[in-house]
Amino acid sequence: MDWRSEPRAITLDLDDTLWPVAPTLVAAEQALSRWLSKQAPATAARLDVDRRATLRKVVLSDHPDRAHDFGFVRHELLRRALSEAGDDPAMADEAFAVFLAARQQVTLFDDVRPVLAQWSARYRLVAVSNGNADINRVGLADYFIGAISAHEIGCAKPDPRMFHEACRLAGVPAEHTLHIGDDPHLDVIAARQAGLHSAWLRRPDFAHRHSADTCGSASPFEDLHALEAALAALR
Ligand SMILES: [Mg+2]
Repeated sequence: MDWRSEPRAITLDLDDTLWPVAPTLVAAEQALSRWLSKQAPATAARLDVDRRATLRKVVLSDHPDRAHDFGFVRHELLRRALSEAGDDPAMADEAFAVFLAARQQVTLFDDVRPVLAQWSARYRLVAVSNGNADINRVGLADYFIGAISAHEIGCAKPDPRMFHEACRLAGVPAEHTLHIGDDPHLDVIAARQAGLHSAWLRRPDFAHRHSADTCGSASPFEDLHALEAALAALR
């Protein structure tokens, strides 16, 4: 940690920072599969793991400029899958909505509500995510002044524009903003390169993913309470 003074704004990654994303994605995929089996059985029958991977590649190669937009890629994949199975491709709208609704059913880590409640009274909080979770739909909107999403900005972390837009939304310059996230490259190093301070949240559940020295000099924090203690020491 190399912050010398207390930040005025904090930007926060969402997936694997405020909740574990894997169980949510698995459940959302299952909800989508169930819906397709009922509403578009021909599509469901053809859309196995291999076909999905192939279609995903095709969509990405047809729309390289939309690779940052997971929602677009998924919707377009569904549209093509429905179409090639002889179902109505317009059903992709509803299929995607089913996925997206399930995608918002997250289980927050225990420290999230108490620490965000404290921080929202003290700092300008902005969510910064490459994924398509929605702070309104996951029930966290009260803590944040806003959110920056890759699909709205037109690029994804580690692009510095994601962080600069977040600072703009917070109304606080990058050098007075702290970004917190789980990913050494997309969050910790990228935010620092964009001119923000950053802190690495390396939750014990995911500690196996990255060794402690992945971020160079940045030492990881195990939870938001530890980060709050570090911030309190600056006050
Ligand atoms: Mg993350």
